[in-house]
Amino acid sequence: MNLYKELDGDLGYLDHEITKDAVIMYVASKRKLCKCPYCGCVSIRVHSRYEKSFQDLPIMGKKTKVIIGNRKFFCDNPDCTFTTFAERFDFLKQNGKKTKRLIDKIVDISPNTSSVAASRTLKDGIADVGKSTICNL
Ligand SMILES: [Zn+2]
Repeated sequence: MNLYKELDGDLGYLDHEITKDAVIMYVASKRKLCKCPYCGCVSIRVHSRYEKSFQDLPIMGKKTKVIIGNRKFFCDNPDCTFTTFAERFDFLKQNGKKTKRLIDKIVDISPNTSSVAASRTLKDGIADVGKSTICNL
């Protein structure tokens, strides 16, 4: 079963850990080609990897943190202003710490309560969200 197929068909499950109040999922992108977001050229040359984490919808009533070894690619287009770029995902805003489906859930829960109460409800098994984040959303 691939829990992440719905987010991105190329995302594969690697491993997971279950702690007292959270699930930590390790995933990896299996996409072979990646498009440079600056010039649109396709690259297959991986430059490096770095650890990136974000929160997703809860699993088994526990907060879920997803860790991905995010890849950086070379852009081989000599006319591009950038030489490398990081793989991006549609389900996550650039530098986002929460998936869009989690943000939708937070927005669903929050309107009828104060941000303090919403933050408390969310911390109880959904996600760590500060009240200022809720206000911003
Ligand atoms: Zn480029």
